[in-house]
Amino acid sequence: MPDGTPTGRFAPSPTGELHFGSLVAAVGSFLQARHQGGRWLVRIEDLDPPREVPGSAERILADLRRFDMTPDGEVVRQSSRQAAFDEALARLASRGLLFPCACTRSELPPGPYPGTCRNGLPAGREGRSLRVRTPDQPIVLHDAVQGEVTENLSETCGDFVVRRADGLVAYQLAVVVDDAWQGVTEVVRGADLLSSTPRQRYLQRVLDLPSPSYMHLPVVRDAEGHKLGKRHGADPVAQQAPLKALGAALSFLGHAPPAHGSLQERWNWALAHWNPERIPRSGATHTDRDGQTVYSSHERSEKDA
Ligand code: GLU
Repeated sequence: MPDGTPTGRFAPSPTGELHFGSLVAAVGSFLQARHQGGRWLVRIEDLDPPREVPGSAERILADLRRFDMTPDGEVVRQSSRQAAFDEALARLASRGLLFPCACTRSELPPGPYPGTCRNGLPAGREGRSLRVRTPDQPIVLHDAVQGEVTENLSETCGDFVVRRADGLVAYQLAVVVDDAWQGVTEVVRGADLLSSTPRQRYLQRVLDLPSPSYMHLPVVRDAEGHKLGKRHGADPVAQQAPLKALGAALSFLGHAPPAHGSLQERWNWALAHWNPERIPRSGATHTDRDGQTVYSSHERSEKDA
């Protein structure tokens, strides 16, 4: 599908309702693609049936429609992409980069994978997961909001899992295969996924896939400082008026819109004024005088720059 058009995507896992944190990722990815005249795609990352909440994908898609966020092209479901993931695993194997690992989580010490099965399974043990070999080498990438990120995978995670012990393909591999297949040129998502990005860069390199550019948006936290999560049932967007929720998401991203206007006018304003330089690096919350939680984010300061 790649043809050089700037292409962004929103890639929710159907594990709960669309909440304010995922709305921010949807809005940020949408504006970043569309303000360049590009394409915006939606991909349902339904690769983990045990964590899936029935009906969640449909409700997320319905919420996006209420916000007038219409994807360009069909919604892709990762559950239909197994053949492509198997092909990527075969490619890693043919390059000598894949090995079976017998270790259970409780057998592994905290920190990077110690290499237990790297040179063969211990006698009498069977392979459970598949891991990819990582080099002792820094991976450097530039993030449009968070700045430069450098990570040596062998020091942080070591050889990491690309097919889990339950046979499911790991998120890191699936996301890289599908971003490339869909021609995604810009990944815009929450900064909680920044720590996954060096692993994804590495997989792109060893699979000969193009690397998109990255923009990691501030994480939305609740009043106690926890990341808002679908699984905590936090603040479903479905219960809010789209005009107000869009205004809050834009304000959180450093683009407070004019107070009045229709949903369409708010989108037009946002498309005309979108400027990634205005996006703060980190997020925070505060409570307003009526006791309602208002999401806000820190301005990017000199210290952060
Ligand atoms: N599916 C992931 C999530 O909902 C996001 C993946 C991504 O944007 O790369 O957290």
